[in-house]
Amino acid sequence: MPEAHVYSIPLTTRFRGIDVREGMLLRGDAGWGEFSPFLEYDAATARPWLAAAREAADQGWPEAVRSEVPVNVTVPACDPERAREIVLASNGCRTAKVKVAERGQAVGEDEARLEAVRDALGADGLVRVDANGGWSVEDAVARIPLLDRAASGLEYVEQPVASVEDLAVVRRRVGVPIAADESIRRAEDPYRVRDLEAADVAVLKVQPLGGVRACLRIAEDIGLPVVVSSALETSVGIAAGVALAAALPELQHACGLATVQLLAGDVTDDPLLPTDGVLAVRRPDVDPGLLARWAAGPDRERHWDHRLAEL
Ligand SMILES: [Mg+2]
Repeated sequence: MPEAHVYSIPLTTRFRGIDVREGMLLRGDAGWGEFSPFLEYDAATARPWLAAAREAADQGWPEAVRSEVPVNVTVPACDPERAREIVLASNGCRTAKVKVAERGQAVGEDEARLEAVRDALGADGLVRVDANGGWSVEDAVARIPLLDRAASGLEYVEQPVASVEDLAVVRRRVGVPIAADESIRRAEDPYRVRDLEAADVAVLKVQPLGGVRACLRIAEDIGLPVVVSSALETSVGIAAGVALAAALPELQHACGLATVQLLAGDVTDDPLLPTDGVLAVRRPDVDPGLLARWAAGPDRERHWDHRLAEL
């Protein structure tokens, strides 16, 4: 790679147990690519992330068939008042993804949050929930109808239970569509979800699955509607997700790509943030001053150079 930068950017809210997002930006003939596997990932897990970065840097992406991508606002497991504020401040997002099944919270708290979100979004918005695999099968079967009622209708439930086998069981026992997220982490996973008929919607992320072209192939093979989501990237990584969402022959659902604001900074002065609930299909320019501003120290650069050398 002719040029590589390691960034280190604090998160505005703790997420996945981390406070700082770190990754490498690689520049090639086609532009910038992001390589930001989480720090605990081994070489085998990180390899597709590098393939995605190389695709972005060396090849660029297939042609877009749309010029904008609808995105959801994400509502954490907060109180109803805060949930309302987040929806109202979402720059026009017409789909809300609401976190539920938070450890230590009662189902009544999820219901109250959903009522507030529906109220703020209006009758024509779409509400989806994400349990991050936090329920047992029995909990999921008991709670999903309650949440469906509280939200006056759910678009889908994302990863109600942890395993793909349990996902298939829950899907057969509830009337609300099921989306697979954590069940799809490696390239072979989407096929398992398909073969077990475990989900109605597949959440695909560009870096873990090895790039935009790899994801387009998966989407075609599995024959399920796709929701493109981020892996908590800078605008460089988000641009790859946008390119995937833009190139899919069909896009029925809002995507989970409005996550740049979860970082305290970005490497472009024109971040991929939503306007009127959509992201424009574009590739922001990387700003050298911001690269310098968020540059990780020499220790971290050595760490990432070493990681790259391992792959
Ligand atoms: Mg999820």
